[in-house]
Amino acid sequence: MLINIRKLLTHISLLLFPRVCIGCKAIDFWICPKCLTKIPLSGNSPFSWSSSVFMYHHPTIRRAIWLLKFSKKYSVLNDIEVYVQKHFQIFLQKHSLLNRKVILAPIPITKRSKAKRGYNQSTYICKFLARENSNIEIREHILEKTLNHISQNKIKHRGLRAKNVKDSFRARNIESLKGIPIVLVDDVITTGATISEARKALMQKGIKNVHAFSLAH
Ligand SMILES: [Zn+2]
Repeated sequence: MLINIRKLLTHISLLLFPRVCIGCKAIDFWICPKCLTKIPLSGNSPFSWSSSVFMYHHPTIRRAIWLLKFSKKYSVLNDIEVYVQKHFQIFLQKHSLLNRKVILAPIPITKRSKAKRGYNQSTYICKFLARENSNIEIREHILEKTLNHISQNKIKHRGLRAKNVKDSFRARNIESLKGIPIVLVDDVITTGATISEARKALMQKGIKNVHAFSLAH
């Protein structure tokens, strides 16, 4: 009964607020298959250990990530699933992580952002990546953000971005994870300063195999 009510409410909300393609206004998608093929794939990444699916400069993916980050529109991930899952498999294969236990760790957001939004979008990306892979385990709290610094997207200068996040993460509860590869997950990798600091915090505590994956770069 409760499930039916929930389903009904979902249908009503979709009727009132239908999904409209960011690129061409087609109904029932956040990104329709046609517009999806127009988003350029990211050919590079700041580090050999990191990888991203799309190029962030493209307006469709920028808007899609905004929906995910600030508007709780998780279903946007379903529209980009084919590319994201395919890219993730290639990433796992490239780093010899296929068919072995892997930990996904979302990059934590500041306490202020968490209080404001109520959720961390990178945790949803982790759940999305893990849902068809039983070897993957999500550990949401192995990294803690120790400083409530300014949001990285408000800083344009590369040097200042690095300074802003320096020593801002602390690794915890990782004693049982030594020897298991960890993949840091974020929505966007820009200069790489954030994932680099997060990786450093884990490596300082003895984790040797740390990679990073994001939707866009
Ligand atoms: Zn479209």
